[in-house]
Amino acid sequence: DPPSEKYEYQAEVSRLMDLIVNSLYSNKEVFLRELISNASDALDKLRFLSVTNSELIKDEVDLDIRIQADKDNGIITITDSGIGMTREELVDCLGTIAQSGTAKFLKALKESKDAGADSNLIGQFGVGFYSAFLVSDRVVVSTKSPKSDKQYVWEGEANSSSFTIREETDPVNLLPRGTRLTLHLKHDEKPFAHPERIQRLVKNYSQFVSFPIYTWQEKGFTKEVEVDEDPAEVKKDEQQDVNPEEKKKKTKTVVEKYWDWELTNDTQPIWLRNSKEVSTEEYNDFYKNTFNQYLEPLASSHFTTEGEVEFRSILYVPSVAPYEKDDIANPKTKNIRLYVKRVFISDDFDGELFPRYLSFVKGVVDSNDLPLNVSREILQESRIVRIMKRRLVRKTFEMIRRLSDSEKREDYEKFWDNFGKHIKLGCIEDRDNHKYLGPLLRFFSSQSEEEMISLDEYIQNMKPEQKNIYYIAAESVSSAKNTPFLEKLREKDLEVLFLVDPIDEVAITNLKSYSEKEFVDITKEDLDLGGEKDEVEEKKIKEEFGQTCDWIKKQLGDKVSKVQVSQRLSTSPCVLVSGKFGWSANMERLMKAQAV
Ligand code: ADP
Ligand code: MG
Repeated sequence: DPPSEKYEYQAEVSRLMDLIVNSLYSNKEVFLRELISNASDALDKLRFLSVTNSELIKDEVDLDIRIQADKDNGIITITDSGIGMTREELVDCLGTIAQSGTAKFLKALKESKDAGADSNLIGQFGVGFYSAFLVSDRVVVSTKSPKSDKQYVWEGEANSSSFTIREETDPVNLLPRGTRLTLHLKHDEKPFAHPERIQRLVKNYSQFVSFPIYTWQEKGFTKEVEVDEDPAEVKKDEQQDVNPEEKKKKTKTVVEKYWDWELTNDTQPIWLRNSKEVSTEEYNDFYKNTFNQYLEPLASSHFTTEGEVEFRSILYVPSVAPYEKDDIANPKTKNIRLYVKRVFISDDFDGELFPRYLSFVKGVVDSNDLPLNVSREILQESRIVRIMKRRLVRKTFEMIRRLSDSEKREDYEKFWDNFGKHIKLGCIEDRDNHKYLGPLLRFFSSQSEEEMISLDEYIQNMKPEQKNIYYIAAESVSSAKNTPFLEKLREKDLEVLFLVDPIDEVAITNLKSYSEKEFVDITKEDLDLGGEKDEVEEKKIKEEFGQTCDWIKKQLGDKVSKVQVSQRLSTSPCVLVSGKFGWSANMERLMKAQAV
């Protein structure tokens, strides 16, 4: 036998394994979902590569996943016919944390205040391969990559800082390709190795995996067997002189037991089904399974587009904001899974299918019009992809709009809390879609300091003679509501939007108008509140206070550009306003903050 070589785990892996084994008790069964999802990923990779290299699947092994539970010995084996791993990949993939999901998990854990790892985190990220140690003492991974002519065996134990790798030599264990995981369960976890339990878990967690999952099940069929006749009966028959030919054959029903593979999941992708026949629960389950989410989505939309470009898609609005604080600027979220003719192509996009401000949207997109060997370059240049993007964006707006119109106001509040910034960023970056973005905006106002309102609600509340939408940008609601700028508008019962998020004012100035009403900053000079003006009276006042104004200007010098009489105040004697074409005070504050 070739000797096995010993390797040490990267330090983070050891820490993660510790955590898994010692603190993530509550939800142990997720190990199966994690391992099946790895098997499915490996099959996806193989299928994708085989599009350009048919050699890879020449041996006609089906693309599937098989799970066998041996309850007497407490062993579970999970076999996939996917891409497998070379020796180097075994060391890299199972000895270090190079992988996104797991790395994110550790990061989130570090950030989460309560140091005790909680099961929400495991639900949101999964901890991938290492979750095998939630239930196992020893894990053996035997794997054959098409890139290598040898099969290798990785072996690791719980509570150990090292693992070994050796070549597979036993012909019984050789695989045509792919990976077999053998889990030797911990004493207390042996009940997991029960075929029925495995079947239940697969149905629960993996019904949306697009490859067949077979589980090894005991089956039975009934059969009639002839039995030896009871001697007493025979005698009775003889006495009655019954013709032996007419004697009824004595039979008995017996159950014959055998074991066989049983298909355990439904492999028809949910997006190919008729949306009328899919329940909300199924959509939500699909979302949770596909994106490793713990919480239900806030909204979903399932649609088919026809015409120029045909594709099917299910989109979701998550109910939580991503962990990464910088996510708003990062379109690489792996949130959209692209399929071509049901073959998974990629989830690694950089703005090709969604603009970055909508990068929080999760979903699947399946097109028949793209080539299977579509590359990043093709994606970036394809006219089809551009059309798809436009449609996807529109559908996203419809979905969010429905959420905002829904009876359940708190749902949209949650959305706005999590993704309001994204929508405002959209106002800045996506001029073409202003008419879809505007209705989604929410602000506090002088007449609604507790609950945010929409621009439509603002317009409904406008005075008959009011032409503009008034706003003031400030640090907070409390500073906005105490400015002298508001006095006159309050007196006239005109509502003023409070823009209290730094990005608000930029978004509004980009939008310029909504429903043909212009946005007007109430801190700018020349504020016109509409209504009748008494020109004679105005002229009189201007003359009367002309000298006073000149005197004040002289005292202040360059600190102000001019001093004027105005009718915008009612109780305060004076107010500082911004020039018509200058920055607003709020903008100036922001610019200063940025310059530091
Ligand atoms: P993730 O799935 O987020 O990448 P995991 O910890 O689940 O992280 O898996 C780590 C890596 O190990 C995978 O990215 C993959 O490269 C490799 N791997 C795990 N299971 C398999 C498998 N069944 N077949 C091939 N490669 C696998
Ligand atoms: Mg994984």
